[in-house]
Amino acid sequence: MSMRIGHGFDSHAFKPGVPLRLGGLAVDHTEGLAGHSDGDVLLHALTDALLGAVAAGDIGTFFPPSDPRWKDAESSIFLNLALEEIQHAGFRIVNADVTLILAQPKIAPIAGEMRERLAILLDVLPELVSVKAKTPEGLGLDHVAQAHAVVLLERVEDTAGLQTMVAEIESDQALDAVLDGELDELVGESVRTEQIKRTVIPVFDTEDIT
Ligand code: MG
Repeated sequence: MSMRIGHGFDSHAFKPGVPLRLGGLAVDHTEGLAGHSDGDVLLHALTDALLGAVAAGDIGTFFPPSDPRWKDAESSIFLNLALEEIQHAGFRIVNADVTLILAQPKIAPIAGEMRERLAILLDVLPELVSVKAKTPEGLGLDHVAQAHAVVLLERVEDTAGLQTMVAEIESDQALDAVLDGELDELVGESVRTEQIKRTVIPVFDTEDIT
């Protein structure tokens, strides 16, 4: 059985006056995380882990912070793109393990709810998702949230899912247009992640502040 492993890391500074989003949840806290998007550091690490497992670049490749479309965007958009990438590559999730590193808020009381939320977002059973949290002892980073994510993937033996994806492409003309870079004309104001991924040149953008 062909398997892949991927690791993702992200960090965001806390910032007053913005809501805190972690693992797809709205978390009650005095501050949120700074970022071009909603600053969900956990979903960003998970997105990078999934993309890394199929060598599809990183979150900044697909969603550059210079693009105003991703201002205040829900990070589940990024995760969905990564899930489409691994499906397109012919893989599915075996399990995911996430570690949050932050001084506050305490994660233990909401870890169960976070697992449930992540399982829904990843479309897997909750027992396949682990959420752990640590405080940044000795790091002097009490005003920063960090996240590490590791995912294991296995190759999908039944290609029915891939065939379905191909059938969902509207037409050969539409696909050709996307491949030619005519994304804006096709998409207009809406966001269609399956088209975005096909326009991406896998250049690594180290200036990710999503
Ligand atoms: Mg980020």
